[in-house]
Amino acid sequence: MTTLITHSGGCHCGRVRFEVVAPKRLTVSDCNCSMCSKAGYLHLIVTADRFKLLSGSEALSTYTFNTNTARHLFCSVCGVKSFYVPRSHPDGISVNARCIDSQTIEELTVMPLNGREWEAQFPQGRGTYT
Ligand SMILES: [Zn+2]
Repeated sequence: MTTLITHSGGCHCGRVRFEVVAPKRLTVSDCNCSMCSKAGYLHLIVTADRFKLLSGSEALSTYTFNTNTARHLFCSVCGVKSFYVPRSHPDGISVNARCIDSQTIEELTVMPLNGREWEAQFPQGRGTYT
């Protein structure tokens, strides 16, 4: 059983702050889709109950495209996307591991994710939680 700890992080200007409960040693996904590859986003996907938005909800803007399932949330002041609701887990949250700044990450393992061929990557139409 992996011990879970609370990591914290946020956007660049500091308006958006969050806490996420996850292992110390994180495995995250580097997605090659049109959106994530441009942003350099590293996905840490958690169930909604493991994520807490501490501040900044009023600063968030939403961007959607393609199936409009994912809700790409970014800070309207500094532009940083520190978390969002992913198409693969519409009932969960994807935290951008690059935005965790609490220095609580012991080890970061980056796994490639083929989001460019999303339907082949997620034949069930969604992802699972680890
Ligand atoms: Zn910001």
